[in-house]
Amino acid sequence: MDLSIATPHALILVINCGSSSLKFALYSAARREPLLVGLAERLGAPESSIRFDLDGARSLVKLEGAAHAGALAALLEQLQKLGWLKNVCAVGHRVVHGGEHFTASALITPAIINDIEACCPLAPLHNPANLLGIRAMLEGMPNIPQVAVFDTAFHQTMPVAAYLYALPRRYQRELGVRRYGFHGTSHRYVAGEAERFLELDPADHGLVIAHLGNGCSATAVKNGASVDTTMGLTPLEGLVMGTRSGDVDFGALCYIAQHTGLDLAGLDSMLNKESGLLGLSELSNDCRTLEAAAAEGHQGAAEAIAVFTHRLARHIGGLAMSLSRLDAVVFTGGIGENSSLIRKLTIARLGVLGIDLDPVANDQMKGGKSGFVSRSRQPAAIVIPTDEEWMIACDTIALAEIITTTGLSTL
Ligand code: ADP
Repeated sequence: MDLSIATPHALILVINCGSSSLKFALYSAARREPLLVGLAERLGAPESSIRFDLDGARSLVKLEGAAHAGALAALLEQLQKLGWLKNVCAVGHRVVHGGEHFTASALITPAIINDIEACCPLAPLHNPANLLGIRAMLEGMPNIPQVAVFDTAFHQTMPVAAYLYALPRRYQRELGVRRYGFHGTSHRYVAGEAERFLELDPADHGLVIAHLGNGCSATAVKNGASVDTTMGLTPLEGLVMGTRSGDVDFGALCYIAQHTGLDLAGLDSMLNKESGLLGLSELSNDCRTLEAAAAEGHQGAAEAIAVFTHRLARHIGGLAMSLSRLDAVVFTGGIGENSSLIRKLTIARLGVLGIDLDPVANDQMKGGKSGFVSRSRQPAAIVIPTDEEWMIACDTIALAEIITTTGLSTL
């Protein structure tokens, strides 16, 4: 069957492969709501399984120790059973690190795979897992265009002043040590939605977007392009996150190492897995749990929220200085979209920018709604729900259309 993205029943599969998990979503080219979503977890372990969410019903299939290839085989089998496999005409893959090489999404070819591989030293936990997914899908669906969408690509427009660390230049030249930024797919999607929602002039506007989920980053967007962001060479820099510290004085780390004997791997693990909201509260990395505990008088939870919002407001203020005008601060991600408390405490610190909370609108804003949470309109504070998977699907459709219209084959 000659199926192309232009066919009315064309389907797009989006794959997000982590080191031991694999998220997926299946879209029809015409609709933002996915037909099927799911998650394979504990890949490679005896209890590995894959779950499918379809029409509000959830089913679970045990994978008996299978890893990524086994999970993808189970996914393709499910698509076959549902009668959808024959209509899948493009696959989009999330790839975490595209280094300086990738400034946009790319159709996957053998050369592109080599380029993604070359970025592995910059993201040793993520890129190899992303490549596993790409290779397994190329084997499972060899004749279908596949697209890589990079977390870092949107931030490649940052000027040199924003991306250089004040380290000896040889580390940038020889090892690629510089700030890259992450969550780019989310920031790009939200920037576009905010521009439409606020009816901004595409050639003259400024936004600061706070993506607050388990990982958190904020980005300054000038006329649609990223000009500064809080994450760096890795996703550890910047804001306080669920289990990551964000910015910390390296001198403090030397001091901790000297007094505890922690080596580099130990410090890395402590900063990524035991810090942030979890480390501060000594209770949880989950914002909902902390809000409930703080309301009942848990001091650690209250202080974790205070540090989180203080750091966030400080970064928002700093990022605004990379813009020539500020139209809005935009909240997104699980916390940004749902937590009226985090927004309230953050906006309370943004008075100097002229942003003024609307308490009623703020309390009502949750569960995927978009809208204003400030009384002020210039600048405003707004909420825009993110949708990284749909953005990946859109890039995949756009690049697969090139194949359809030009008849080019990449594989
Ligand atoms: P990920 O980065 O894994 O995609 P999410 O964007 O789903 O994560 O965000 C997860 C965070 O969102 C968790 O800290 C969770 O507690 C928080 N969150 C979700 N709903 C609410 C809510 N109603 N109130 C406060 N925090 C919430």
